[in-house]
Amino acid sequence: MLRSARWILLACPLALIAADVNPQTYLDDVRYLASPELKGRATGSPELEKAASYIASQFQSFGLKPADGKNFEVAFPVTLGATLGANNSFSYRDGGQKGALKQGQDFEPFSFSSVGKLSAPVIFAGYGITAKEYNYDDYAGLDVTGKIVLILRHEPQEHDERSVFQGKKLTSHATFIEKAVNAKMHGARGVIFVNDVAAHSANEDKLEKLGETGGPRDAGVFFVQVKAATAERWLAAEGRDLRQLSEEIDRDLKPRSFPLSKLEVDLDVDLTHETKTVHNVAAFLPGTTPEYVIIGAHYDHLGLGDEHSLAPGLKGTIHPGADDNASGTAGVIELARWFSKQPQPKRGILFMTFAGEELGLLGSEWYVKNPILPLENAVAMINLDMIGRIRDGKIFLSGVETGTTFARLVYDAKLPAPLHFDLTGKNSGTNMNDASDHASFVSKQVPILFFFSGLHADYHKPGDTADKINAPDAAKLLDYIADLTERVAAAPDRPVFVRVARPAGPVSNGSNVSGYGPDFGSIPDFDEPPKGVRFADVREGSPAAKAGLRGGDILIAFDGKDISNLYDFTYALRDHKPGDLVPVKVIRGNQTIEAKVLLTERR
Ligand SMILES: [Zn+2]
Ligand SMILES: [Zn+2]
Repeated sequence: MLRSARWILLACPLALIAADVNPQTYLDDVRYLASPELKGRATGSPELEKAASYIASQFQSFGLKPADGKNFEVAFPVTLGATLGANNSFSYRDGGQKGALKQGQDFEPFSFSSVGKLSAPVIFAGYGITAKEYNYDDYAGLDVTGKIVLILRHEPQEHDERSVFQGKKLTSHATFIEKAVNAKMHGARGVIFVNDVAAHSANEDKLEKLGETGGPRDAGVFFVQVKAATAERWLAAEGRDLRQLSEEIDRDLKPRSFPLSKLEVDLDVDLTHETKTVHNVAAFLPGTTPEYVIIGAHYDHLGLGDEHSLAPGLKGTIHPGADDNASGTAGVIELARWFSKQPQPKRGILFMTFAGEELGLLGSEWYVKNPILPLENAVAMINLDMIGRIRDGKIFLSGVETGTTFARLVYDAKLPAPLHFDLTGKNSGTNMNDASDHASFVSKQVPILFFFSGLHADYHKPGDTADKINAPDAAKLLDYIADLTERVAAAPDRPVFVRVARPAGPVSNGSNVSGYGPDFGSIPDFDEPPKGVRFADVREGSPAAKAGLRGGDILIAFDGKDISNLYDFTYALRDHKPGDLVPVKVIRGNQTIEAKVLLTERR
């Protein structure tokens, strides 16, 4: 079968031409993109725009045309970190005493805080954690509806090797966003967050900097930090002691929550979320038919190391991102160079580099919602993200199962020695399957292939430099990808999309939330609607599909709890187990639909 298929291809008049990507020009691209001049290509920085101009000028020099006939650089808006407005204030009445805190010195809002005014009484709620799996709940028997909760950072027994909270390792319950979501799920309107000074030195009692706390744009709850000394004064007025309270909780893991009967807080949070224009860069090589193949890579990286840096001590140092992803961007450029000299293919090729990937696949998400060429004519998306560190010839390829014809084409194209596929995907170091731009195309049912040379110790660190790039092997891999692309472009049949399992939770790099709980079966749309979680799609045969839910539905309630964003949904889902029958509400068009979903084991 395979042999005869190959004969047909060889006999076909569009004889395939072997590519010969030059390792030196490839390395020149990588070196420029990863150079100090480009300062790590942060989305929103002037250096990212320099990188965009470089890619565009390369495309132009090959004689390629902009995909939209006008500009290689296709603008889209991104929301960057929050900035403080002029009206942040925090005043309180403590019995007869009035007081005010100074922003930046005594208190600071978090970037994901709700904005506006809030006046409410305060309830101390321990660490603000509800962890059924550890039989721990700071909210047990507590009504915090409409109130502000005062909670501690981290988790109980933080320095205890035998702690049920995974010993000395912090669990996801310790994250800011989980504490915010948990407070909101219990009906609280605001959170006052303090450092757990009993477990850390009081010298460490610093206010978090705005923009370094991650999370969604608006978590749906007010969230400010105050200095521990302030909280200690409030508690002292009630005859209580903050250190003692946390030590008591640590001792027996029993809640020590109670209302601060004398305290009333008036809060005004004033934040604006900065929007900037950035660019995807796209060039098109038309085919003889309207169908086309996409070869893509993200060209942004972490700049000076934002919250996604894995070397937090080296924040402020350039993260050059040579492998991630100057290596893939250079790959797209060199493939464009080679294809521009070849005879016109049957299916066209769209060369595309994306911005905003490191912030959560923003460029590719935007593109699939605002495609330049009709998305239904896109027969395949080939994504290159980190192809510069090939070791022992090992190549990781995923997505072969997403297109009906891929297995044969991948086999027929010739991978030059010593390169070979590690198709197990097991040793790639992480589940990268949803962590790059191809995920945006999967959500629109475009078959994908994802090439990757594996994780390494320099990933997301300043050590990801151009001198460590294995250009000779990367060039060989590009020869292979050219061969494969030619076959996809020339094949009689286009690949038909096949759905494969994908987690329901947030998968972007920006997420702090780990673990997905039972299976629901929806594929979330990463662009948040005003409120709720929109499903890009619903997996066939999944719990959601069996309950009658479909792509386009917006989930607004899960088991009686409001769902305003993906974080809420992930949190609520994780709180359930396979076998639970859960009532949900979705908006479809102008109707609200109620359904019951039987959760199953995640495969
Ligand atoms: Zn990457
Ligand atoms: Zn990255």
